[in-house]
Amino acid sequence: MRSARPREARGVSPPANSIRSVSTADSERTASERREALKQVYLQAKGCVRCPELAATRKTVVFGAGNADADLMFVGEAPGASEDEQGVPFVGRAGKLLETLLGEIGIERKDVFIANTLKCRPPGNRDPLPIEIENCQDYLRKQVELIEPTVICTLGNFSTKLLRGDPTGITRLHGQPEVLTLGRRAVRLYPIFHPAAALYTPRMLETLREDFGRLPELLAQGAPEQPAFEEVPELDDPPHADAQAGRGAAPEQSAAVTEPPADPSAGPTAEQPDEPDQLGLF
Ligand code: URA
Repeated sequence: MRSARPREARGVSPPANSIRSVSTADSERTASERREALKQVYLQAKGCVRCPELAATRKTVVFGAGNADADLMFVGEAPGASEDEQGVPFVGRAGKLLETLLGEIGIERKDVFIANTLKCRPPGNRDPLPIEIENCQDYLRKQVELIEPTVICTLGNFSTKLLRGDPTGITRLHGQPEVLTLGRRAVRLYPIFHPAAALYTPRMLETLREDFGRLPELLAQGAPEQPAFEEVPELDDPPHADAQAGRGAAPEQSAAVTEPPADPSAGPTAEQPDEPDQLGLF
């Protein structure tokens, strides 16, 4: 078993509805170590050319933004034109609605982390292609691993289907939380409608608002019980050295968390100036 370790204090004080309460999940890394690692993933993603069409047509890679140690993470579909311009997710009309709905439950945007299934805008706002989702998923899985959210709210079909690994649609699943193991971590997955879909359909907006209303209670439940990891001693380790190093094998049922791409499609890793403040990483 991994050893329990108290988490670092949050950068922001939790609101009354407990955006971060006590987490049962333990971690090998401190919040600032995880945040530094997230920056490196961001810098790699910035130069990604895994999807030639997206790399050729995007203005920016929209990595994700917010609190790198958030309890609550949202995963949308893909950046639109405004997001591509600004390099920040959900800054258009759907983003304004997301912020309004968050405000109604007493949570500020800066307290959550917002990401997308695709980090690049599909030209003409077309749907993400399966190959693009496949190419991009390492970044999202790495974000989940490093942010360690308690609740992941998937917005719409694309992120819901990807993280559940199942084609069941959002109309059937919305508003129903489930515990899911992603990589080494169990999270509460909470699929809801995409705010863009609710912009033009009052009934869907009402459903979205109702589903949002259950988020505080879900957050208050804290992290689900975490999967146990068996220690696997390395052959040439001295006795007990593995325990000190905190190594463990992933359980069979968990989806693999791959390292961020270390291939030629990944860009430079040197820190770059002038990152948008809203990213919350710099
Ligand atoms: N829709 C999304 O899914 N993501 C964004 O960032 C903006 C709109």
